[in-house]
Amino acid sequence: MIKVECNGEVLEFSNEISANEVIKKTYGKKSGAVAALVNNEQKDLSYLLNENCRVEIIREDSNEGLYIMRHSCAHLLAQAVTELFPNAKPTIGPPIDDGFYYDFFMDPINEDDLRRIEKLMKKIVKQNLPIQRQEHSNETLRKMFSDNSFKMEIMDDKIGQEVGSSTYKQGNFVDLCRGPHVESTSKLRWFRLTNTSQAFWRADSSRETLVRIYGMCYSSKEDLQNREKLLREAAKRDHRKLGKDLQLFHIDEMVGQGLVLWTPRGTIIRNELQHFISEHLIRQGYQQIYTPHIGKLDLYRTSGHFPYYQDSQYPPIIKRDTLHKLSDENCTCGDLSNLMSEGEIDGYMLKPMNCPHHIRVYASQPRSYRDLPLRLAEFGTVYRWEQSGEISGMTRVRGFTQDDAHLFVTENQIEQELLGCIELVKVIFGTLGMKDYRVRIGLRDSDSDKYVGSPEKWNTAEEACRNAAASLGVEFSEEPGEAAFYGPKIDFVVKDVLGREWQLGTVQVDYNLPERFDLTYVGSDGEKHRPVMIHRAPFGSMERFCGVLIEHFNGMFPTWLSPTQVHILTISEKHKEYAERIAQTLRDLALRVEVDSGDDTIGKKLRTHRKMRPAYLMILGDDEQNNETVSFMGPDREQNTGILLDKFISDITAEIKSKS
Ligand SMILES: [Zn+2]
Ligand SMILES: [Zn+2]
Repeated sequence: MIKVECNGEVLEFSNEISANEVIKKTYGKKSGAVAALVNNEQKDLSYLLNENCRVEIIREDSNEGLYIMRHSCAHLLAQAVTELFPNAKPTIGPPIDDGFYYDFFMDPINEDDLRRIEKLMKKIVKQNLPIQRQEHSNETLRKMFSDNSFKMEIMDDKIGQEVGSSTYKQGNFVDLCRGPHVESTSKLRWFRLTNTSQAFWRADSSRETLVRIYGMCYSSKEDLQNREKLLREAAKRDHRKLGKDLQLFHIDEMVGQGLVLWTPRGTIIRNELQHFISEHLIRQGYQQIYTPHIGKLDLYRTSGHFPYYQDSQYPPIIKRDTLHKLSDENCTCGDLSNLMSEGEIDGYMLKPMNCPHHIRVYASQPRSYRDLPLRLAEFGTVYRWEQSGEISGMTRVRGFTQDDAHLFVTENQIEQELLGCIELVKVIFGTLGMKDYRVRIGLRDSDSDKYVGSPEKWNTAEEACRNAAASLGVEFSEEPGEAAFYGPKIDFVVKDVLGREWQLGTVQVDYNLPERFDLTYVGSDGEKHRPVMIHRAPFGSMERFCGVLIEHFNGMFPTWLSPTQVHILTISEKHKEYAERIAQTLRDLALRVEVDSGDDTIGKKLRTHRKMRPAYLMILGDDEQNNETVSFMGPDREQNTGILLDKFISDITAEIKSKS
C-alpha cells in the first residue's frame, strides 16, 4: 500500500502509480500540470511513485513550470537543428527569462535558416512525440555521446568519470539531461525563435566559437503575443536606432568600437543632465573635481586594479625609451608582461576607475574629523576593455563617463551619507518620471571568509544600507552573497515604460581602499583613524543613462532636455522676418531654437521636423504675424492657435524651469 499526499488529501494505492495519475485524480484532466514536485524534488509527470510521498503540481503558468517548458523547448530546438544540420553538435541549452537558448558547434546560420528551424520545430510539436527519460551507466553514456566532445567534457566535469546519468529522448534525438521535461512535444506550442548570436564554449574566447540560437516560449498564445508586441515596441524605441535618427550620438569604426562620439544634439542632453545633477551635488555639499584620464601603473598596483583586472582594461602605456631598451635586450612580449606585473617597469594606464585619483586628492593634505564627510564628485571618464561581442550602443561601451563621487566618512557617518546618496537618486528619478524602481542590497555571504573588515563593521554598514533603503519608501530586497569583498552595496534597478528593468548605478561601502592607501584622519581624540569610503555613481554612466532615457522617452524628451526646444516653421517667404525675430527673442532667453523659412510647403516642413521630435513645433503665417501671436503644437501634441507671444514665452520658460 502506498500513501500519497496531494493537495491536502491522502490517497492510497495498491500498486506503484505515476505522479501524473495522482495529479489527474486530484486536479482533474485539465490541471495545466507540466511536471510534479515529489517530496520537494522536481520530477517528470511520468515519474513512478512506489513509496509513501507527497506530490505537488507544477503548473505551466508558474515560474517553475515555465522554466521546464522553456528547457523542453531548448531540446525541441536541438532536435530540429540536428535534423536539418546533421553535423551540428549541441552543447548546452538552458532556459532563460522569457525563453531559452541553445549553443551549437556549427557554421553560422542566417535568418532563413532560423525560420526553417522554427518550421520544423512546429512540425515536431504536431507529431506529439513522447519525451522519455532513460537512465544509463557511465559506459553507455560515453558511447552514446562519443562523437560530441562538448557533451563528453560536461560528463567529465559535472557528472564525474564513474557515475551514470539520465538522458531524454524524443524521436531520434537524445540529449544528456537531468530533466524534468514536459511529457510530449505537443505541450510546446507557444514559442518563437528570435535571433542568433556568436558564443564561445564555456564563455572562453580561446575555445570553440559556437552559434547561439535564442527563442522565447510561453504557456499561452496571449502571453507570447504580448511579449512579441512588447519587443516590437522596444525595437522601435531602441536607442541605437533613435540615437541615429535623432542624431544624438555616433559610434565610428575608425575611432574604435564602444567609444561613443556625442554629437551636438546628444551633447545638449548630457550637459543638461550634468547641470541638473550638479545642482543637487551643490545642495548636498559635494565638491567637484577634475582628474586626468591616465595614471601611473603604481597607482593601480596600490589600488589592486593592476595586474588583477588586466583582462578588462586597455593595455598599459609604456615609455618609448623603456620599450627601445627592452627591444635591444630581445625582451619578448611575455617577458614584458611579467616585468610589468612584477613592478619592474613603470608605465601608465587609461583609468578603469576614478577612485584612486580621488583618493590621492583626499591624501593631498592632512585631514581632521572636522573635514569629514568629504564628498568629492567628478563626471569622470573611465575606460574598460569589454569583449567585442558584448559592446552595444550606449549601454555597453569601452569608454564612459561616470556620475562618480567618493565620500570619505567616519564610521558613524555611513548611514547619514548613504541616505544622502539615495535621496539624490530619488529626486532625479522623480524628475525624469521614472517612478517605478527598486533597490537591491548586496550583503555578505555568512559562510564565506573572503571579506575584509571586522564583522562588527560589516554589521553596522549592512544595517546602515537597510535603514537608508527603507527610508526611501520603495521596494527593496536583500541579497546575501552579493556584496563585494570590501563592503556591502545598494543597487538601483529602474523599470521603464515597457516594464523592462535596467540596472543603473550603485552605492558601495568600502573598507579596503582606505586600508590599501593608508588613509587617515585625526579624530577629536587627537589620534589617527581610518576613514571609510563610499563609492557612488547612482546613474552608472552618462552613456548608459542617456541610452536608457532615449528609450524611456521614446526620443520625445521633456522640454528642458530636448536638444531643440522650439522648431519654427514659416508658411511662406513673407513670414521669415517675424520668425527670425521670435527665434532671437527665445535664444536671448537661452532657449534652443531652429527656424525653417525655406521654400518647401508647410506640409513637407512639418513632416521633416516632426521626425526630430522637438518639444514645440511652431507655425507662423499671416494671422500670427499681424497679431503678434504664435500657433504651435506642444509636448501634449495639442494644437494651440493664436497664443500671444508673451504668454507662450512665460509658459515655456516656467515649464523648463520646473523641469516638468
Ligand atoms: Zn535538458
Ligand atoms: Zn570608486
